[in-house]
Amino acid sequence: MNTQPEASHFINGAYVEDTAGAKIDVVYPATGEVIATVHAATPAIVDMALDAARTAQAAWAAMTGTERGRILRRAADIMRARNHDLSVLETYDTGKPYQETSVADATSGADALEYFGGLAGALTGEHIQLGEDWVYTRREPLGVCVGIGAWNYPTQIACWKGAPALACGNAVVFKPSETTPLCALKVAEILHEAGLPAGLYNVIQGMGEVGAKLVTDARVDKVSLTGSVPTGRKVYAAAAAGMKHVTMELGGKSPMIVFEDADIENAVSGAILGNFYSSGQVCSNGTRVFVHKDIKEAFLERLSERLAGAVIGDPMDPATSFGPMVSRNQLDIVLKYIETGKAEGARLVTGGAEIEGDGYFIQPTVFADVTDGMTIAREEIFGPVMAVFDFEDEADVMARANDTEFGLAAGVFTRDLARAHRVAARFEAGTCYINTYNDAPVEAPFGGVKASGVGRENSKAAIEHYSQVKSVYVRMGDVEAPF
Ligand code: NDP
Repeated sequence: MNTQPEASHFINGAYVEDTAGAKIDVVYPATGEVIATVHAATPAIVDMALDAARTAQAAWAAMTGTERGRILRRAADIMRARNHDLSVLETYDTGKPYQETSVADATSGADALEYFGGLAGALTGEHIQLGEDWVYTRREPLGVCVGIGAWNYPTQIACWKGAPALACGNAVVFKPSETTPLCALKVAEILHEAGLPAGLYNVIQGMGEVGAKLVTDARVDKVSLTGSVPTGRKVYAAAAAGMKHVTMELGGKSPMIVFEDADIENAVSGAILGNFYSSGQVCSNGTRVFVHKDIKEAFLERLSERLAGAVIGDPMDPATSFGPMVSRNQLDIVLKYIETGKAEGARLVTGGAEIEGDGYFIQPTVFADVTDGMTIAREEIFGPVMAVFDFEDEADVMARANDTEFGLAAGVFTRDLARAHRVAARFEAGTCYINTYNDAPVEAPFGGVKASGVGRENSKAAIEHYSQVKSVYVRMGDVEAPF
């Protein structure tokens, strides 16, 4: 596959290059090879993208929702038809195994385009009768929406932000992570092939500073970021200065509680999905696994057996189930956390080492006997490192599960239905799971509380974050004035 894009940016319906921008080498994480080179957006490119978006938006908003939706649904069909090629590109961009990308990336992006394409024609205001007078509301777009993406799900993030924004009548300027710049360009191509008018979905490359320029620009009405909490704090503050709308999808250190009556096999499956999918580079991962003392050793034994079945290697081989970290930098961060875990006294159950070779591979790693104050218990690692804690009492484990600045996700495994719902109600988290982990269907709201975020993606809830309501008061009779 030719992984070199036609040009770095996609603006106003066409590829655009400006080699004056800093060079960004795209590295295939499985081999360390440079597979493409793009250039960061210069101020001229940023201007071109924002002007294109501003210019195109009004006519798009003036179309009916059904017309807008038809284009999104057509894009979903094209995306599904090209799933193989898009999945291969996603694997090159991120290193995630094809076994995952072929079912979780372009497919998830297509779901978002189809779902919001379907909703576009159903967006309405309301009628509020006030005696003979009335108020009606209009659901209006925000204008120009900026999306800034993390590197773990480049296609999905580009669609999760683009689809609801476009459905509501906005224009989009998307900046992918500099680590994974390739996939969003394909999303732009497909949208335009499906009939999206030029200027409505633009992709520009660059590091954080390009993102920062977009966030502070007066032409921008909304910023949606997927990234870490420290970046979120900066972007939220910068957006606040311009009184812009925001969606913040940030990091987590989510708890998963396994009670003594849980089905151990399912709990182990949940813990695997919640720690090792995408080599642990998933924001909602349940990385603090609290296992009841009575079943802890059985849980750890079964987990170790199952982890021995992970197929680590060439991500393009459909048999491979565990790929490399996205970059040397991320691998080094994870290795440092593993050393800290050992130094602070956690028990290494399995894994813990880099796998020698050209790629950025690391073993799936499990620590047990982790205590709440340890660094690996408190900080987001964003790699395949699971921390297992003991507990005996429900009230105690709830307090410990919630004792974190994060609040993205949380899970519980138990056969006791009343306990499952009680625990879910008490979790301080935006996305909770009972006897499962890390499902993210487009129909359900996704997002965090506390430091993990503001707003929700997916579902009807996302419409609230990409549109605003105007009230129009209509008087039927005379207007009374005091003088
Ligand atoms: P970062 O926070 O480092 O970066 C996110 C994006 O923001 C990148 O495109 C980055 O550019 C850009 N950026 C950095 N600084 C600024 C700035 N000052 N102004 C505007 N944009 C800026 O996150 P990572 O890419 O390392 O992704 C990992 C993080 O993302 C984890 O914390 C993870 O939990 C979180 N995440 C959250 C998800 C959610 O839905 N809640 C889903 C996926 C990931 P660049 O990196 O190119 O310099």
